[in-house]
Amino acid sequence: MSQTASPAASTEPLTPDICVVGHGPGGLAVATAAALFGARTVLIRHDGSELSPNEGARGQALRAAAGQARAMADAVPFGIAEDAGQVDYGRIRAHLDRVAARSATNDSDERLTALGILVLKGDARFQNRHQLAVGESVVRARRFVIATGSLPAQLSVPGLADLPYLTEDNVFDLAKRPDRLTVLGETAAAVELAQAMRALGSEVALIAREGLLPDEDQEAVGVLRRGLLGNGVTLHEGRPILRAESHRQRPRLVLGGDITIDGTHLLVASGRKPNIATLELDLAGVRSDDTGVIVDASLRTANRRIYAIGACAGGATAGMASSHAAQHQAGLVLRNALFRLPVRFRPEQVPRTVHGRPELASVGLGEAQARVQGAIRVLRLPYAESGLAQAERQAEGLIKLMTDSKGTILGVVIAGARAAELIAPWVLAVQKRMNVRDMAGLIAPSQSLSEISQRAALSFQAPLAAKPGIRRLIGFLRRFG
Ligand SMILES: Cc1cc2nc3c(=O)[nH]c(=O)nc-3n(C[C@H](O)[C@H](O)[C@H](O)COP(=O)(O)OP(=O)(O)OC[C@H]3O[C@@H](n4cnc5c(N)ncnc54)[C@H](O)[C@@H]3O)c2cc1C
Repeated sequence: MSQTASPAASTEPLTPDICVVGHGPGGLAVATAAALFGARTVLIRHDGSELSPNEGARGQALRAAAGQARAMADAVPFGIAEDAGQVDYGRIRAHLDRVAARSATNDSDERLTALGILVLKGDARFQNRHQLAVGESVVRARRFVIATGSLPAQLSVPGLADLPYLTEDNVFDLAKRPDRLTVLGETAAAVELAQAMRALGSEVALIAREGLLPDEDQEAVGVLRRGLLGNGVTLHEGRPILRAESHRQRPRLVLGGDITIDGTHLLVASGRKPNIATLELDLAGVRSDDTGVIVDASLRTANRRIYAIGACAGGATAGMASSHAAQHQAGLVLRNALFRLPVRFRPEQVPRTVHGRPELASVGLGEAQARVQGAIRVLRLPYAESGLAQAERQAEGLIKLMTDSKGTILGVVIAGARAAELIAPWVLAVQKRMNVRDMAGLIAPSQSLSEISQRAALSFQAPLAAKPGIRRLIGFLRRFG
């Protein structure tokens, strides 16, 4: 299809092979790959900015700036004199915007149109099971893909709705660094933003009403908790929030146990909800609930012409809100929609990450889930055993492997430096249902953190070495020189 972006409205319906609603990582992945395969593709993006909002890119850029600030502060124990880092938040903002703009050029209208994608702008609404409208245009596609993402969820705290507060979507617009930031939430985003702003010099209080990262492996969360406290974040976990109020025109939170928290800014990062309210899904015969658009494992909705992926999708994909999950689902949808191949989304194969300090990364089953499955072995190796981690003074952390009794890898949890990088080979191992002995045979480069993975896998054999029979065999073979 070679129309230009935002064509004049037509009364004739457009009839592409695929119509994608939403231009986040999921929608863009479907649209660009579909166009590359020659499918006639329409992509619908919201009005306004030509660029996607790119909170992910801004978040990454903020963490990178925080990492630089921390590196300066952390240099002292290495024998390098401290040069008190001056934080110029205006320049940090410029850095965030520059990174977001660079990453957004990949999804500019110009580039998409050059790929042959017809870009329509506006809010898509289904009209019936076969077509949707966007502005004056009507699209009657062979297949639709809903990829409309999520919005910050409303938190029910008395008084909160009357206060101005920041969310994950607008915190990056701040022109000035908050002096005292109160972060409300137990999510990955809450932890990441709290730590980054602390590193950049804000005083930060993190209030995790349900406890920190309740869905993650709590042994690993313990490592992150120590990191937060070590970084100087004040942590309040498991306390009810009685009310939010304005005190001298500043946000104040009152917690159970007579605790009052005053800040200059309040950031609510306590979760997100699917962004599907305006799509008129009922008219399309698509079912939804609180988790989002209900899909089965092949990512199809109740209307078999319509798929949903990414943060707006619920049902079989509920709780899988990450850019990489959305992009992986995009690939599955294409295989099914274009090539009619059977596909199955397997949530246990998608890695989960928290880009805190230290990082948390996991794939497959956590220890508690694995134990429900029966006889398992849990292999642990602390970062302190790694020479590189010691040299870099990043020896806090651990890797934990869950296997069945035969050694099949069921899940992996890593808490520590560069955990999000170290998890990659384990993602493959879980996908391929590899045996931990395969990973034990990995030749990990010496003086790299990958040695931790290999040595943890090797420890599967440790009970074997202690067996009297094995010892006798070694003794017997010794006789032969
Ligand atoms: C601050 C922050 C940091 C993050 N950091 C990470 C990270 O480090 N790693 C990671 O994996 N994930 C991260 N995420 C999560 C990640 O950004 C989301 O999971 C991912 O963007 C979901 O992609 P998506 O394509 O499903 O939806 P989205 O990216 O939300 O995109 C959906 C798009 O659809 C548009 N839309 C909505 N309704 C309509 C409509 N009716 N018509 C037309 N268009 C519509 C929206 O405007 C939006 O642009 C972060 C998120 C935030 C907010």
